[in-house]
Amino acid sequence: MRSLTLAEARERSSLITVTSYAVELDLDQGAEVFGSRTVVRFTCATPGSDSWVDLKAVAVQSIELNGQVLDPDAVSDGRLTLSRLAAENELTVVATMAYSHDGQGLHRATDPADGQDYVYGHLFLDAAPSVYACFDQPDLKAPYDVTVRAPQDWTVIGNGAATRGEDGTWTLATTRPLATYFVTVCAGPYVSVRDEHDGIPLGIHARASLQEPLERHAAELFDVTKRSFDYFHGLFGIRYPFGEYHQVFVPEFNAGAMENPGCVTFRDQYLYRGAATRDELLTRANTVSHEMSHMWFGDLVTMKWWDDLWLNESFAEYMSHRCLVDATDYTDAWVDSSIVRKVWGYGAERSPSTHPVAGVEALDAQSALQNFDGISYAKGAAALRQLIAYVGDDRFIAGVRAYLTDKSYGNGTLADFLGAIEQASGKDLTAWSRAWLLTADRDTISVEVDEQNGVVERAVVIRESPADRPADRPHAFDVAGWTDGRELGRVPVTVTEPMTTIAELEGTPEPAVLVPNASDLTWARVRLSDATVAALPAQLGQVPDAQARAVVWSALIDGVHGATVSPASFLDVFDAAWPAETNSSILTRVAAYAEHRVVPYFVPRPEQDAALARLNRAATGLLEGAAPATTESLAAARLVAGTSDDEALLRAWADGQGLPAGLEDDGDFRWIVVRNLAARGLIGGAEIDRFRAKDDTLQGGLNALMCRASLPDPESKAWAWQQLTGREGRSNYEMVHLARGMWVAPDDDLVADYVPRYFSDVPAMSGWVGEDALSRVVLVAFPRVFTEETASLSSETIARDDLTPAVRRSLVDADAELREALASRQTFGAAV
Ligand SMILES: [Zn+2]
Repeated sequence: MRSLTLAEARERSSLITVTSYAVELDLDQGAEVFGSRTVVRFTCATPGSDSWVDLKAVAVQSIELNGQVLDPDAVSDGRLTLSRLAAENELTVVATMAYSHDGQGLHRATDPADGQDYVYGHLFLDAAPSVYACFDQPDLKAPYDVTVRAPQDWTVIGNGAATRGEDGTWTLATTRPLATYFVTVCAGPYVSVRDEHDGIPLGIHARASLQEPLERHAAELFDVTKRSFDYFHGLFGIRYPFGEYHQVFVPEFNAGAMENPGCVTFRDQYLYRGAATRDELLTRANTVSHEMSHMWFGDLVTMKWWDDLWLNESFAEYMSHRCLVDATDYTDAWVDSSIVRKVWGYGAERSPSTHPVAGVEALDAQSALQNFDGISYAKGAAALRQLIAYVGDDRFIAGVRAYLTDKSYGNGTLADFLGAIEQASGKDLTAWSRAWLLTADRDTISVEVDEQNGVVERAVVIRESPADRPADRPHAFDVAGWTDGRELGRVPVTVTEPMTTIAELEGTPEPAVLVPNASDLTWARVRLSDATVAALPAQLGQVPDAQARAVVWSALIDGVHGATVSPASFLDVFDAAWPAETNSSILTRVAAYAEHRVVPYFVPRPEQDAALARLNRAATGLLEGAAPATTESLAAARLVAGTSDDEALLRAWADGQGLPAGLEDDGDFRWIVVRNLAARGLIGGAEIDRFRAKDDTLQGGLNALMCRASLPDPESKAWAWQQLTGREGRSNYEMVHLARGMWVAPDDDLVADYVPRYFSDVPAMSGWVGEDALSRVVLVAFPRVFTEETASLSSETIARDDLTPAVRRSLVDADAELREALASRQTFGAAV
């Protein structure tokens, strides 16, 4: 179906003002379809004009416009033309809609643990018309009255407070004006825990089979929720405006969470079934806070068009970290940002698909979705931190308050936002926003030191802009250095020129490790000097500043991808410094990166066993020394489970014997072990089924699929490929798990036949898989056969003109990583 264009949206919003929606959903029509009746009242600025309403139905029963019956067959390509509109109009559409299984629209999933069905609405970005008839664009906001008929034993949660009538029909309280994509309904035998804070009724909800983790995590979730409310109330000076606040943990959710006003949906893996590391709790707290900040920025004030989606996300990304640091125990949230969010964003920046943070013209809704990436989140948030350094925090917050107050229940643009900050700060932001928001790519920052007998004679910050994307970005950050764990200097610098002398370092001892951007205040490629990289194995573990260590690890990862740091150097630092790491985010993320990226991508296959053995030795050592049931022991145990070739150990752990403390009944940990056994061909399908029977849950089913796809034999690969790419009715999550197992193989020969098939079969899935879900499948299923043949097939495919925007974007990004792997292997050869 065609995607709404910016020109169409402008034209429609100049004509139409929506007064109200009344939506009746009938979710008691079986597992395939549901009933949808919409009454929309709207005015037309030029009576007699034509417009259209968006509708993606399975069948349309009746349409009535201002009392006139229209032909249901008039709906074409997701649109219904409305002719000769009056000044005031009422449209009634009665239709049958389909549940989705790709996480877009009204998603329906069956929980294998008890056979119960669950439904949730995810209407971002343009799925609203698959649930109700609407003018689907972000600047046509209106209040909603929603009623839901559901099976007797179901609970219904939505944007407005839900009450159950005597006939079993649920009525949701009339909402404040909402954009179409924020409307949601969650329905099913959800279980709930309720609380209240500062007059706001709170609820958290999950599938019945997740009642135990829901209750176990409730106190922590409510704590972060309450602290975030207090913090944002204080910061924004505007009360939370959407009534009750529900957080629903839903199955098979594509993203992390979605900021539906009053009813935030989260991926339900966040209700960790087994042991969770501290950084996993931090990540969840960050998501809770992120979604809540959207209640003001995004929901109360919504971007006028999708090209300002970045502003929502950059702002929420920045605000959630700020809230965690200022108002919770997660005071190291910015460290997590450095090693998780910014590593993600720098990856996006390395891809040819990189783009400016803002000002990328989104000509239609679907193309806007392609820029919803690490640039919009991580780089945008870093740019906001630079903006705050530039104008001052008080003035920034004053501008934000003014923007939110002026535009309440309406829409805003980048120009409106910058205008508010300019007004509050008295500073012209034209040049600043051109350099930081409107220019793609990043500067490289390094420090050049001349020394004599270990004393610094001259230290200069070098700022290099990309030659093909020149920019004059001002940077505010700091430079710090350490020798044997002693800080030898920390100097704040403001860089506005290609070379900036740091006079403060002259005459001081030259540090063994010198880190530009040590507090990670700016956005740049940090190039560590050769001397610093050489010193890291001996020195990094002694650097007491976790923030600076995260910057170093991020720079090493960037260097591995850019073929300036060899995988061998990375593993040398890993061996020496990782087991000593005390920050949970660095510990778990660097381990995962080493296991799942550095070794499989950058180490040639014949060397991979030796590389995994190095990771395994480091992890085994840490596991032996770590206190039981801590983040350290858990991170170490996971890495041992994923990398060990000790069949006896793996079999014992899989059968629940000799497990590290805290992992005795941890189904998710067992699957890491089982997957390793499966990948090595040490167990077969029957044993995977046996483990599946022990964990007959949604998560267990997905893991079993991944394990079966990982089995190193031709029949299993053929089966996995058929399940992944055939029209087998697999859900979004099932496809991703099949894809994760598919390329796990002891050698390229086993999977080589699927390389050409990937480039024909996977793009064709756009015929039946939604773009959001498919974009993930394209990335995860991209061939892990790192050869020139794969690269040339990839180039040919990207050159095709029949790819959908999401398929093309994911292919370009996966292709970029393939080329990085090839370049690294070319530069450094096989030695690890
Ligand atoms: Zn967000």
